[in-house]
Amino acid sequence: MKSLAFTYKLLLSFLCITLYANPNIARDSDPNDSIVSKQSKKAKNIILLIGDGMGLSQIYSGIVANGSLNIEKFKNIGFQKTYSAFDFITDSGAGGTAISTGTKTRNGAIAVDTAGKPIKTILEIAEQKGLSTGLVSTSAITHATPASFIAHNINRNNYEQIAEDFLKTGIDVFIGGGKNHFNKRKDSIDLCIKLIQKGYIVTDTITDIIGINNGKLAGFTAKGHNPSILDGRGEMLSLATKTAINILDNNAKGFFLMVEGSQIDWGGHDNDTRRIAYEMIDFDKAIGIALDFARKNGNTLVIVTADHETGGMTLNSGNIKEKTFEAVYTTKDHTGIMVPVFAFGPGSEKFNGIYQNTAIFYKMLESLKIK
Ligand code: MG
Ligand code: ZN
Repeated sequence: MKSLAFTYKLLLSFLCITLYANPNIARDSDPNDSIVSKQSKKAKNIILLIGDGMGLSQIYSGIVANGSLNIEKFKNIGFQKTYSAFDFITDSGAGGTAISTGTKTRNGAIAVDTAGKPIKTILEIAEQKGLSTGLVSTSAITHATPASFIAHNINRNNYEQIAEDFLKTGIDVFIGGGKNHFNKRKDSIDLCIKLIQKGYIVTDTITDIIGINNGKLAGFTAKGHNPSILDGRGEMLSLATKTAINILDNNAKGFFLMVEGSQIDWGGHDNDTRRIAYEMIDFDKAIGIALDFARKNGNTLVIVTADHETGGMTLNSGNIKEKTFEAVYTTKDHTGIMVPVFAFGPGSEKFNGIYQNTAIFYKMLESLKIK
């Protein structure tokens, strides 16, 4: 306990030093301001990272298996209530929509209300305000979580219609699987050609993707979903996150980026403890990249949360030194418990406490000072 408290103190003082040493934060501010009020300034950029199905046990499984995680560095932490409009247990469509639009909707819906009416998303609002926008995912980019930020559909399974909605926005960067929904479609329309006509660089490999540092990018890393981390996905998520941040940061007005660790959820559905732990560790690497950028940048709000928990997972025994543990599950589906929210940067203090999943949308708008 003593050494834990000591480490925490060290971490605190390190963060304070970083804040004071950062010229971007120190500039334009009264030296008498508290750190809290310094953080209350406008966020220029938002990086929102969603761990699909990531509850406390999923996070702790990564911490135990890896020894530590970047997610432990956050100081502003809250909890969100995940229930959807008509169900105690949400799916990723309604969960994503709550975060992306501030509206609880029916399960399976993608950025439409319970009547099926489209609702403007944080990504679309950011774009209207002149910010650059991006989506990164380890699933198909058309899957429910990323789709909730860019598409409008009463049914999350309408992947080909969801792909069409990407063309209706000016999204600057998207990287993930799901190429077949763009160019192997029932209507035989090749949306990749349309993307190229709109000025996008369309690429298929992470090696090509990481070489791009400006312009518009449609990076397809798989025809369907990407493989799981245990099946050789490699560094795709962190490389894609780094590339997206680098491109989006070219815009002096700022950017909104959503990054999803999609497959923590799938490990949960399979009650596959090893897969959950390694997907969590992989997602945490993307969190580390976002935090590193935010620390250097000084004007970036980083938010990490989940759409729901999956598996009713808990850890019943373990060994910290050996980095091992036993998990048990109550279901192969999602559960209705609250999930944590972690925040760093300008506006991060707004994320302390317990609130609705929909509140995250409004907290993001407030942080960007958008009404
Ligand atoms: Mg998802
Ligand atoms: Zn799920």
